[in-house]
Amino acid sequence: EAKDNGRHTYAIFSTAARHLLKQRLELRQDVFSALERRQFVLFYQPQVSAVNGAVVGAEALLRWEHPRLGLLAPDLFLPMLEGSPAITAVGAWVCEEACRQAREWELLGYRLRMAVNVSPRQLTDENLPPLLKNLVNRYDLDPECIKLEVTESMLMQDIDKAAAVLRSLQRDGFRIALDDFGTGYSNLSYLRTLPITAIKIDRSFVREIEQDRRCLDIVNGVIAFAKSLKLDVICEGIETELQKEAIRSTGCDVLQGYLIGKPMRSDDFRALLLAQTAAPNQAGPGCKP
Ligand code: C2E
Ligand code: MG
Ligand code: MG
Ligand code: MG
Repeated sequence: EAKDNGRHTYAIFSTAARHLLKQRLELRQDVFSALERRQFVLFYQPQVSAVNGAVVGAEALLRWEHPRLGLLAPDLFLPMLEGSPAITAVGAWVCEEACRQAREWELLGYRLRMAVNVSPRQLTDENLPPLLKNLVNRYDLDPECIKLEVTESMLMQDIDKAAAVLRSLQRDGFRIALDDFGTGYSNLSYLRTLPITAIKIDRSFVREIEQDRRCLDIVNGVIAFAKSLKLDVICEGIETELQKEAIRSTGCDVLQGYLIGKPMRSDDFRALLLAQTAAPNQAGPGCKP
């Protein structure tokens, strides 16, 4: 009986595994032509002020509209690109599309801060600062409104090159956020030595808040520490009212998560902006928190 069960389980697993493998091979084959086939699209997730709920920014999140498999999240295909020079072209497209969108919202009367995720390759690419500088000139944006999100593990891969790129971006006026803060070694010296202007507290802390009181203590501590360094603090992954209220009580500046808004297409994001009770530009000093 147990043996039968085992065999049955094995058969299912094997079919699923084969299916997954087939799908991965298909994705790997298609991903390198997805850019030229215009199958990539940016979704935008709102970031709101913890004080008054106004939308102050958006995080651009890459999606792939696969003709057969539908809308795919980056975890499914980005790793395939990371190891290849193709990531440079995709990264450049993400930067351009995010700038174009930021300009469109600005013309609509909303000056938001646009957060763009950077890949490890881009972070050590000395062409990234001139590329971005060129884009903000072309789209007539204030570089302050573009925030690049990097992770500690990316920095660790080649800290000297990454530091040079970040300093160059800082000189040009761009903002830099340390993403997924608290998940790695949380080497605090990066915050002192690199031109980081914001930290994003990882959603793993937010998730645990309801079960584990210490998580809130940690977030409180991190925020006090970040404030003393004059860093902006964003909390990501807020899914419940309880989490939202707990995080708001810590003095965190900006909130992001499914409760506030899921990543959405630009049309839906525009509708969200227009539905805000505050009239355009009433949300405060634009992208300056
Ligand atoms: P990330 O930068 O940490 O982005 C946050 C991820 O958490 C996003 O997943 C977002 O959809 C998800 N998220 C947001 N709020 C919630 C919530 O309340 N609950 C839960 N469970 N999840 C939430 P997504 O879009 O699948 O992106 C995954 C990762 O892929 C990103 O993590 C980022 O590292 C990377 N990525 C996304 N877009 C780009 C891109 O354009 N370029 C590069 N290089 N990486 C990207
Ligand atoms: Mg991010
Ligand atoms: Mg994150
Ligand atoms: Mg991440």
